[in-house]
Amino acid sequence: MTKLSKFAKDRGVRYFLISFTDLRGVQRSKLVPAAAIDQMQAEGAGFAGFATYLDMTPADPDMFARPDPDSVTQLPWRPEVAWVAGDLYMDDRPVEQAPRWVLKRQLGAAAKHKLRPMSGVEAEYHLISPDGSAISDPRDVDAKPCYDQSAVMRRFDVISQICDAMLTLGWGPYQNDHEDANGQFEMNWTYADALVTADRHAFFRFMVKSVAELHGLRATFMPKPFAELTGNGCHLHVSCWSPDGKKNLFEDRKGELGLSKSAYHFLGGVLGHAEGLCALTNPTVNSYKRINAPVTASGATWAPNSITYAGNNRTHMVRIPDPGRFELRLADGSANPYLLQAGVLAAGLDGLSRKSDPGKRLDIDMYAEGHKVKAKALPLYLLDALRAFGKDKTLAAALGGDFTTAYLKLKTAEWDDYARHLTEWERQQTLDC
Ligand code: ADP
Ligand code: MG
Ligand code: MG
Ligand code: MG
Ligand code: MG
Repeated sequence: MTKLSKFAKDRGVRYFLISFTDLRGVQRSKLVPAAAIDQMQAEGAGFAGFATYLDMTPADPDMFARPDPDSVTQLPWRPEVAWVAGDLYMDDRPVEQAPRWVLKRQLGAAAKHKLRPMSGVEAEYHLISPDGSAISDPRDVDAKPCYDQSAVMRRFDVISQICDAMLTLGWGPYQNDHEDANGQFEMNWTYADALVTADRHAFFRFMVKSVAELHGLRATFMPKPFAELTGNGCHLHVSCWSPDGKKNLFEDRKGELGLSKSAYHFLGGVLGHAEGLCALTNPTVNSYKRINAPVTASGATWAPNSITYAGNNRTHMVRIPDPGRFELRLADGSANPYLLQAGVLAAGLDGLSRKSDPGKRLDIDMYAEGHKVKAKALPLYLLDALRAFGKDKTLAAALGGDFTTAYLKLKTAEWDDYARHLTEWERQQTLDC
């Protein structure tokens, strides 16, 4: 186990951010001087849980974030500081509803199936003006701006700083591009163990926002920040390996599209639980303006509308791009890095246990021909997804009762808050009724 004080000494780190992600996806931290890190590593950094989104009360005892030294990451843009993911404890017991625990429980369940989940995420984001009102580059106006060479080079300083950081950290970044919306970018790094990817995903979000700020810009992962433009997806690529990491058990060169039977059962679980799963993959009111959306200025939303899968075809909820893995295109930039993967694993493992059948793949252009087939629609609103999640007892049991209760409470309150909001649209539509 890495001793954090030694890590600090070796690398010139003066401060640690002992961090955790709450149910709403907010990263919370204590900034701890390296001189105090030994004690914090042993006991954890203290927090009042009620002050965060974890469904606690002001009367609850303090909770402690005990740093997981395997996750320690020196901030490449601020090397005197290192970030480390913490696991939350209260009265010496894990805080069951804390997202990193929810994911770890699923990894434990996968281990019982003798599986080692590996994953990669594509966390798209927009670079916008500091006040959030517009994209940051006024010249980025083309209707089809994807891969635009000049536009990506106008943001070279930001993108290369982030990519250099990932190179330094050893994440194996391999490409960066301008995406399908004006002002939108994507940066890809190599897949890894699910928990490593979740921690990197959390750190990536923090890093992109921080580096953008250094350049006088703002980065947003909001699912649909601009109505007419393609939204920010967060595709998740999944495979499951043997415990020693030597064999990809989702791969079978003789299976359909190079996927094994267990991969199809897992996929059957993901499709079967998709409606409830949306509460985790698409957790905000705004999420539902990215999926089920009308066509964007570029000609396609690239987001799914229904619960279907296909081969290398980006109009479906799941795409099988290569042998040995599938891509879930459902999730968006507001997904909590830990809950996203926990949900997919819970659904997939249930599929494995039941030997679920995902049905036949649909090799059609879902945007143009979707109306011709009978496919289950995705939830239209956050409330639909929350209700589906509330009814999905299997998913709830797998994820943990404390978590499900806390999460539904928090998210239902968020929906209620939204519903109470008097909008300009309804005033315009209704003033003269
Ligand atoms: P695309 O845009 O075509 O969907 P990207 O290259 O942007 O694909 O992202 C692919 C992601 O999938 C990367 O994070 C990559 O490392 C990951 N990936 C590749 N192979 C696997 C695998 N076997 N298991 C899990 N993730 C994988
Ligand atoms: Mg105090
Ligand atoms: Mg991509
Ligand atoms: Mg993309
Ligand atoms: Mg993708």
